[in-house]
Amino acid sequence: MILEVNNLSVSFGGVRALDLSHFRLEEKELRVVIGPNGAGKSTFMDILCGRTKPRTGEILFDGKSLKGLTEVEIAELGIGRKFQKPSVFPGLTVFENMVLAAKMKKDVLSSLFFKMDTVFTDKIHLVAEKVGLSKALQQIAGSLSHGQKQWLEIAIVVLQDPRLLLIDEPAAGMSDRETEKTGELLLELAKMHSMIVIEHDMHFVRQIANKLISVLVNGKLLMEGSFSEVKNDQRVIDSYLGRANSQLEKL
Ligand code: ADP
Ligand code: MG
Repeated sequence: MILEVNNLSVSFGGVRALDLSHFRLEEKELRVVIGPNGAGKSTFMDILCGRTKPRTGEILFDGKSLKGLTEVEIAELGIGRKFQKPSVFPGLTVFENMVLAAKMKKDVLSSLFFKMDTVFTDKIHLVAEKVGLSKALQQIAGSLSHGQKQWLEIAIVVLQDPRLLLIDEPAAGMSDRETEKTGELLLELAKMHSMIVIEHDMHFVRQIANKLISVLVNGKLLMEGSFSEVKNDQRVIDSYLGRANSQLEKL
């Protein structure tokens, strides 16, 4: 088990944003988290990566408690976060953005200087290939399509070699084709990393959910199950899918 969470809670201005009794993730598992807006999904990721401090609860990452660790320390332990909002440097090329990401990794910095360039370059090309940006490496990041920017963001997180990847709404705003490519990319990455993916688009969820989906509502875990179990669960339909997704009828 790579992640074990117990009794995790946080409130903002008296409102309980997250109240998660338990959450478990196996090594190399790809977990999809769904739920209505304001359910606490992003807050959960904020807590896992150390951006938000929980009021109660414990998080064990590979058996080690994250209590008291800073965001940087948690990243160094191997939890990488891709945020909902893009954060690439638009004036730099794709390659330069990736160099910056790779350099942020401490053990790479401490490696031998004369080897650094080839190590970087090889790795950047490998990751660029993975996310489908090989041909765009010399392009200014600001000129990428929305989908390509999201893939660059994913590449930047992957370059940190995280054991656990946290990915918040990767397909938001993407075309159908881009969404499908993103799904393929995440399934590919799941061979190497444990992963939690937050997503709204149920077509996309069906594409990537190969094991469990966790449903968050009002900060609480409503249920966990396979795609068809979740899709047909009356509580999920009542609290989320029924009102949010007429698209589901087509699935
Ligand atoms: P989701 O990602 O599922 O849409 P969020 O985790 O963003 O939901 O939000 C959960 C609840 O917590 C919402 O009511 C939101 O307004 C609130 N919230 C999230 N982050 C903050 C914050 N930093 N300060 C105050 N309230 C917040
Ligand atoms: Mg969110």
